[in-house]
Amino acid sequence: MSLEDKISKQVRSIPRSGIRDFFELVLGRNDVISLGVGEPDYSTPWHIREAAIYSLERGETSYTSNLGLEKLRRSISDYVKEHFEVAYDPAREILVTVGVSEALDLACRALLNPGDEFIYHEPCYVSYDPSVALAYGVPVPVASSAQDGFIVKAEGIEKKITPRTRVLMLNFPTNPTGSVMERAELERIAQLCIANDLIVITDEIYSELIYEEDYRHVSIASLPGMRERTILLHGFSKAFAMTGFRLGYSCAPPEITEAMMKIHQYSMLCAPITSQVAAMEALENGAAAVASMRRDYKRRRDFIVREFNEMGLPCHMPGGAFYVFPDIRSSGLSSREFASGLLDSENVAAVPGDAFGASGEGFLRCCYATDLELIKRALDGFRRFLASLKG
Ligand code: PLP
Repeated sequence: MSLEDKISKQVRSIPRSGIRDFFELVLGRNDVISLGVGEPDYSTPWHIREAAIYSLERGETSYTSNLGLEKLRRSISDYVKEHFEVAYDPAREILVTVGVSEALDLACRALLNPGDEFIYHEPCYVSYDPSVALAYGVPVPVASSAQDGFIVKAEGIEKKITPRTRVLMLNFPTNPTGSVMERAELERIAQLCIANDLIVITDEIYSELIYEEDYRHVSIASLPGMRERTILLHGFSKAFAMTGFRLGYSCAPPEITEAMMKIHQYSMLCAPITSQVAAMEALENGAAAVASMRRDYKRRRDFIVREFNEMGLPCHMPGGAFYVFPDIRSSGLSSREFASGLLDSENVAAVPGDAFGASGEGFLRCCYATDLELIKRALDGFRRFLASLKG
């Protein structure tokens, strides 16, 4: 038997991430302007880094409680109450994890029996489908479209519900489209979940990065009848520019938190203590830094959306996160052909939309958490590439 054959069938069945495939092409090239990676171009705010440094200086290098430091869970509880208007008991309903990534994996493994169906809206973050498959569930995508601003509708979800459906996964603001959700539609989705006895996993990692003054982010966990059937996932990577700290958390009723904790205690034991201390500082004193980064992202968003539309690549105005999702279909190229051509001829990297599911075909994801000067140079590259296609 070859070593390849010794790998589990489940692992062999999942494809490699389309983002990773694409970035292997980028590696080894010099001077690439990248709108590809989904992370802030800022370093973690200095006062948060300092809190981590001081913690190490104090010799805080031990394991923590499996659930996470109690003080951090209390801060998370306060923060979630203020931001999402839903209260969680820090002793039994909050689990500190190694990023939202770990929390998602735990939630899938805690909830799914083999063959259970898991609905999510697409295009979406690349981990949802494989996390479900690795937990022996059946991923069931609901396509959203550019005409609807990539908003998933209750009626689209309803069509996919079967007696095997166990979970609905939501992500607002959405990676890769930046879409946000109106309260009325979220209420319809909540009614559907209650009527069909579904658990909801809601990934709200971009919820601080909302740009319109008159829009208020609503978590489905805060709607009547939903707290008891929802796992709220959140983390520090995006708004606090802390991707490398690898810290996230889940908020869920005690039975679900306990089930997730059971897996976490064996597979991870606990999240790193240095990151947990840094996260406390982020929650207590990080609001001003988040607001300042958000102002910058908004300026970049407005600029990049205007430029794409002006060069003939229709691009909806995303309400949140830090991605735009321009429509490249008028070029006559597929997403992959466009992204490879742009990289080859202009040294500009953006992610082909189909990396986020089949309904992302015809689009590119561009992350604007990048210096404005670099964004301008990348857009010049897009213009020249489009001109070369015509010429
Ligand atoms: N959820 C979404 C929607 C994301 O876009 C990402 C990262 O890009 C993650 C989760 C992973 O977050 P973390 O760094 O907390 O693991």
